[in-house]
Amino acid sequence: MPWDWLGSRLPILRRLRSGEQAPVPPSAAPATSARIARSEKTRPVGGVVIPRERHPISRKSISPNALRVLYKLRDAGFAAYLVGGAVRDLLVGIQPKDFDVATDAKPEQVRQLFRNCRLIGRRFRLAHVIFGPEIIEVATFRAGGDDGSGDRAMVDGRIVRDNVYGNIEEDAERRDFTANALYYTIEDFSVRDFVGGFADVEQRLLRLIGDPEERYREDPVRMLRAVRLATKLDFEIEAKTAAPIPRLAGLLVDASPARLFDELLKLLLGGHSEASVAALDRFGLLDAVLPATAQALRVPAQQPLRRLLDAALAQTDRRVREERSVSPAFLFAALLWPAVVPRFQASLAAGHETQVAWGIAADEVLIEQVRRAALPRRISTPMLEIWQLQSRFEHLQRKRVVRLLEHPRFRAAYDFLALRADVEPEAAALFAFWREVEGKPESVDVALRRVAESGGDTPAPRKRRRRGGRGRRPQDSPRSETPA
Ligand code: ATP
Ligand code: MG
Repeated sequence: MPWDWLGSRLPILRRLRSGEQAPVPPSAAPATSARIARSEKTRPVGGVVIPRERHPISRKSISPNALRVLYKLRDAGFAAYLVGGAVRDLLVGIQPKDFDVATDAKPEQVRQLFRNCRLIGRRFRLAHVIFGPEIIEVATFRAGGDDGSGDRAMVDGRIVRDNVYGNIEEDAERRDFTANALYYTIEDFSVRDFVGGFADVEQRLLRLIGDPEERYREDPVRMLRAVRLATKLDFEIEAKTAAPIPRLAGLLVDASPARLFDELLKLLLGGHSEASVAALDRFGLLDAVLPATAQALRVPAQQPLRRLLDAALAQTDRRVREERSVSPAFLFAALLWPAVVPRFQASLAAGHETQVAWGIAADEVLIEQVRRAALPRRISTPMLEIWQLQSRFEHLQRKRVVRLLEHPRFRAAYDFLALRADVEPEAAALFAFWREVEGKPESVDVALRRVAESGGDTPAPRKRRRRGGRGRRPQDSPRSETPA
């Protein structure tokens, strides 16, 4: 019921429904009057026009910087449109987080027009127009098919470089989903639709443009995008778009680990990580990006590791919705916890010292992970620290407690201990102590006395052990710090 959902979300459509004016689905707009015959530099532009009064996008909800870019390009004689995720999000009533512009100006021409501009990208050459913290991405219309005039490189059916310029219609066709191929123009504030995207948005359908299998083979990351966008927008993935995903999921193994990571991070930090991860798993995609997490999610919901993952994702979503900061290192510490714990235990059993054992386990996990979705150092380094500090929470001697409270990564590690405390009884006992002293170093003595008096509710500090030293037999069970 397309008008029902639109009507409930969009003020203009609510007005339309209440009888001010009968709603006219864009797909039903008369084709002849809707075709644009305006000359646009080289040739007339086709497509359906959704006039201002039939869509809810107002200039007030568009970034003033994006409008500045659109007007400046227009005044210099170029065609310029707001495009992609921003148009889609505005149509469904979500405030976009960034604004992209498509134009017939070449990247060099864009650069000449804006002082605050830099050209980026190898696979896609793009102009970034920089306004303080806001970047407006300006992309030249590109064509899907290679006519030999441009700069396209394909390897095994995959696009690796793609700088073949085209017109707006070709630009629409090379985009991924119909909902992502809508163009908003400041000429008459209409939306231009070349691929039926407006009707799909109206029906909350995510549909790949063209032949789905071919489009996934060209760029397997589109499978992750399908899941992420459908979850974010609460759209259904159209049947033909969804069907090949489980069969083609394996293609992700050959995708660039850096791109996979970027897309995974967007998926996890978009406020719908719990639903997105579940959907990735349903489509058989989670194994390709986070194999250890995928495995851990397959155990019954009440198992500790599974509960830890569920809690980490739920907490992340809650924080995003409350517009609080989210630490990717913290989240990955949880997502890779099921992978690192058994390796840590094995390293300990082999006689390594605790911190060394964490290092070895983390290296193994990262080597495995880098082949999938590669974690950059800015995330893997603090993640390792969060893991390492878990062992240090066990040392309840005054000096060590005070030192740990001052550790720059204390807060993240403490939050992680809190997460573990919900699922591991031993971590819960430790957490009770740390909660008492967190942010209150003056209460350390009182808290330590209480632990001593309570007669060992909290695990005793472990003794230092040398590699291969006395008193350690191979059959010794891993220590209390080894979690569930
Ligand atoms: P988000 O809300 O997460 O930013 P988005 O759709 O804007 O979603 P971007 O990565 O910002 O995602 O991409 C901008 C636009 O570029 C998309 O809307 C789409 O038109 C196009 N695009 C992005 N990735 C691809 C792809 N892999 N294949 C084809 N077109 C793509
Ligand atoms: Mg975007």
